[in-house]
Amino acid sequence: MCGIVGFTGKQSAAPILLDGLKKLEYRGYDSAGIAVMDGNTISVSKVRGRIANLCEKTGDGASVPGSTGIGHTRWATHGAPTEENAHPHLSNDGRFAVVHNGIIENYMALREELIRDGYRFQSETDTEVIVHLIEMYYRGNVRDALIKTANRLRGSYALGVICSEEPGRIYAVREASPLILGIGMEENFFASDVTALVNHTRNVVYLEDGEFAELSGDEIRIFDCTGREINKKASRISWDVQAAEKGGYDHFMLKEIMEQPAAVKAAIAPRIKNGKIDFDELGGLVSELPEIRKIVITACGSAYYAGCAGKYALERLCRIPVETQLASELRYSDPLIDGSTLLIVISQSGETADTIAAMKECKSRGARTLAVVNVVGSSIASLADYTVYTWAGPEIAVATTKGYTTQISVLYMLALFFAERLGRLGEDAGGLIGQLQALPRRIQQAIDMNPSIPALAMKYHESRALFFIGRNTDYAVALEGALKMKEISYLHAEAYAAGELKHGTIALIEEHQPVIALCCNPSVMEKTLSNIVEVKSRGAEVLALTFRNNHKILSAADDLLFIPDADALFSAVIEIVPLQLLAYYVAKANGCDIDKPKNLAKSVTVE
Ligand code: GLU
Repeated sequence: MCGIVGFTGKQSAAPILLDGLKKLEYRGYDSAGIAVMDGNTISVSKVRGRIANLCEKTGDGASVPGSTGIGHTRWATHGAPTEENAHPHLSNDGRFAVVHNGIIENYMALREELIRDGYRFQSETDTEVIVHLIEMYYRGNVRDALIKTANRLRGSYALGVICSEEPGRIYAVREASPLILGIGMEENFFASDVTALVNHTRNVVYLEDGEFAELSGDEIRIFDCTGREINKKASRISWDVQAAEKGGYDHFMLKEIMEQPAAVKAAIAPRIKNGKIDFDELGGLVSELPEIRKIVITACGSAYYAGCAGKYALERLCRIPVETQLASELRYSDPLIDGSTLLIVISQSGETADTIAAMKECKSRGARTLAVVNVVGSSIASLADYTVYTWAGPEIAVATTKGYTTQISVLYMLALFFAERLGRLGEDAGGLIGQLQALPRRIQQAIDMNPSIPALAMKYHESRALFFIGRNTDYAVALEGALKMKEISYLHAEAYAAGELKHGTIALIEEHQPVIALCCNPSVMEKTLSNIVEVKSRGAEVLALTFRNNHKILSAADDLLFIPDADALFSAVIEIVPLQLLAYYVAKANGCDIDKPKNLAKSVTVE
């Protein structure tokens, strides 16, 4: 997510911080700020929008003198992208400034505690609890205060901190969020990634989770979470800036596929409290749940397919009928929607024009609206009665990956949350939550257990068409798998509910026609197996996606993709991952512009 930078040395800090932030712009952000220390005075400048605005506001840094400072590009997760919510945040006594990337999962409880203790909050961010905790724990030693603060935080954070009592010193803390230190000549740096450093130095130290660093112009000291000093080796960066932006991957899409275990964890973990799902943001909806007779999910593209996948869990657990409707259709359909309908609206950007229009149409008919979006403060988030953020972080590749899997993860959690509040969750509630918590690990396994995908892509990349088949939850994933293939590789790909083949489309299956068969749902496995046999007997080449020990499928198929064992109710987010990778490698084999496929835009703000 977004970026942080820190500098200490002899030069003016502000221009270096601004330049570093510009280098991090590619990561996506909505606001920016710097804090610079001159003697014992800290000055903060923040803006909504572009770094260019911050350069203008500070005269390219000239109006903020000082040679020590921290900077931040924010990608809002808690609180709208406003100037007040932009970082750095200051402690009440003005002694500390903090920048933060990540999410503090237990910020609500900490915020309440700090307010009880008399601390005043200036922003809606989760971050602000950090700076007040540091002030609370400070007894003349910043390092001690940071260790005590970190012990109170749950979640992910890369922190940059300055203290007015310690001119010339910057502090960095890392937990599950990227942060590296840069070693210069009489100057030192930290940053979210090497792109912000390479103009100054190629000698870096990679901080690991739980580590703290104390930097001055001539020294870097690193400590573990108990305060014990540790020695770490410096490395030399050989990456060029373009490779560094993509974390060493060839494309943003591949980077984002690989980020899914962390993204899904960020969506799920903060919402599990005391063994139960809890959405602070849905307090008001809980009392209205018994009045809901129908749930309608509306969205476009992959978000719509996320809805198709989530529908099964919502219906199964809540026992409320769920319809999925394309927003571009729903808006013109004179829909049968009233006050007993809960409309769930899904959009990564929160700006999808058709989705906004469908939402307004349903709102005018009395529906309650719940938005599942990634971009904080977006139009859909503002229009909805309730909003749940997916916290996937900025997605740069046009074809969504982590955006889609986090949307489904949120739908799974909504299903459990609603069912529990309605008293419809049986004995197995704990088991289901355990399944959710295991998803990030299983997504990682699905990435690791398919090393043959690049080779399979070489086998299939020249096919005229690809058919994806599956039933039930597998069918929902087939829809997204086919869309991914079409979007980035431009191959014709089509998803069928496997049982539909015999109703006509089987005529399209001929010798060597590739069929990708999803077989991850035990309740319909035998049926899909029959469909595999049907298409094989007409000459199809079958690539099956299934579990490693599923011998019947293994022996029926020509090629295999695997997922780890998982409950079918929640397995869509795992199943899609090998299919995303397959689409990626097919597109790569075909020389396509993967991150910017032709004729597509990331956020579709026109009808
Ligand atoms: N969660 C913090 C916020 O919303 C930090 C977001 C970020 O990583 O930029 O302000």
